[in-house]
Amino acid sequence: GLTKHFPIRKRGRELLSRGTRGVHAVDDVDLVLRRGRVTALVGESGSGKSTVARLLAQLHPQTSGTLRLGGEEVVVKRGRAFRAYSKRVQMIFQDPFASLNPVHTVRYHLTRALKIHGRAGKTAQDLEQALTDLLTRVQLSPPERYLDKFPHELSGGQRQRVAIARALGADPEVLLADEPVSMLDVSIRLGVLNLLRDLKDRLLLAILYITHDIASARYFADETFVMYAGRVVEGGDSETVTQHPAHPYTQLLIDSAPDPDRPAAEDKDGGSGEPPSLIDPPRGCRFNPRCPFAMDICRTEVPPPFPLDDGPGHFAACWLYGEGAAG
Ligand code: SF4
Ligand code: MG
Repeated sequence: GLTKHFPIRKRGRELLSRGTRGVHAVDDVDLVLRRGRVTALVGESGSGKSTVARLLAQLHPQTSGTLRLGGEEVVVKRGRAFRAYSKRVQMIFQDPFASLNPVHTVRYHLTRALKIHGRAGKTAQDLEQALTDLLTRVQLSPPERYLDKFPHELSGGQRQRVAIARALGADPEVLLADEPVSMLDVSIRLGVLNLLRDLKDRLLLAILYITHDIASARYFADETFVMYAGRVVEGGDSETVTQHPAHPYTQLLIDSAPDPDRPAAEDKDGGSGEPPSLIDPPRGCRFNPRCPFAMDICRTEVPPPFPLDDGPGHFAACWLYGEGAAG
């Protein structure tokens, strides 16, 4: 039930239009992440997928809904309690250049992460060993070649590996990866995704993989959830969702997915037409203005997730699959 509405401010005052509660960035999202599994959250820009990650990282408090970690409810945390939470739930971002401080070396970034999370050990040798282990984990070897480099001396892929190593410095259970490869050269994306998959298996991480590239979700994620305009519209095991998409929006995303044989410059963010305003989203199914199958009920009632029987956990929030619907 995770929900986030941002107030709209104009000249410092909250500006709310017609009874709305601001920008409906995320509405009533249910997700379960499991250790040793990759869960993909797929959608175009502005679908709310990054906001979901930021809510899970508790970088924003949610407007409503409940977040649980290992069965225990997470309450909004700041200060020391926030640090204890972030030790367990780490995040990596799209642009590794922006997330690493250009005036500091790899050694500085990793040492700081280890110290913050109490994992630097007691002696200088302990620290050196921990640094070596982190760089080895992300396949930057030999470690001494990288430790004293600055971010600008590394390639994009190496920088993202350093950002991953820094996150691993906390020894987390959950890794939230927001478009972790979309700014990297196509040729090195697979290597970074394979590294994440390997880490997930070896460290039993629960990974949330946020992407606009549904084809990569099929390859990389165990389960895939599709977001549209702040809501999850379809989910299930990745094979089923990507091979037998049920929701008209998922079908559109797959039809407009980049062809691997086309140059990357032609990659689109997915879908034709414009996503709706989240300040005053369409009533009923938010996809109804773009949907070729829209019916009357779609313009008034929000479709709940209807279970489908063609794959594990498969569901679609679409009236085409409602009780009494044809087919
Ligand atoms: Fe289309 Fe209606 Fe399904 Fe929404 S609920 S995707 S408008 S058919
Ligand atoms: Mg984003």
